[in-house]
Amino acid sequence: MDESTVKRLMRSLNCVLCGKEYKGAEIKIMGHNGDTWFIKVLCHHCNSESLVAAVVKEGLDPEVITDLDQSEFARFQDKEPVQGDDVLDMHKFLKGFKGDFSSLFSRLDEQTPKRKPRKRIPRET
Ligand SMILES: [Zn+2]
Repeated sequence: MDESTVKRLMRSLNCVLCGKEYKGAEIKIMGHNGDTWFIKVLCHHCNSESLVAAVVKEGLDPEVITDLDQSEFARFQDKEPVQGDDVLDMHKFLKGFKGDFSSLFSRLDEQTPKRKPRKRIPRET
């Protein structure tokens, strides 16, 4: 796999923040370790910069690496991508948030079961 192929694959993806295609985005290959590529992308639509780790194998669809389990994956895979408004809502929430994060998260920790280690979910073919 060469850098130009990885860049071409990246351009076919959508920005995680604004949802628009990375077509025309500034894509910089930071390096790779075997099949795992580290890529910096500057979206021209929303000006966000993302660091992406992608597993790219010759002749195979890119593999999804996630810490979601099968049921969570099924629940979220058809959901709309996060939109600019969602980010804005979170920004407003955090701006007005006067609470204590460590107590908030420790409370959540007691309610939710411990996360399993991240695993790979094969793509449906
Ligand atoms: Zn964007």
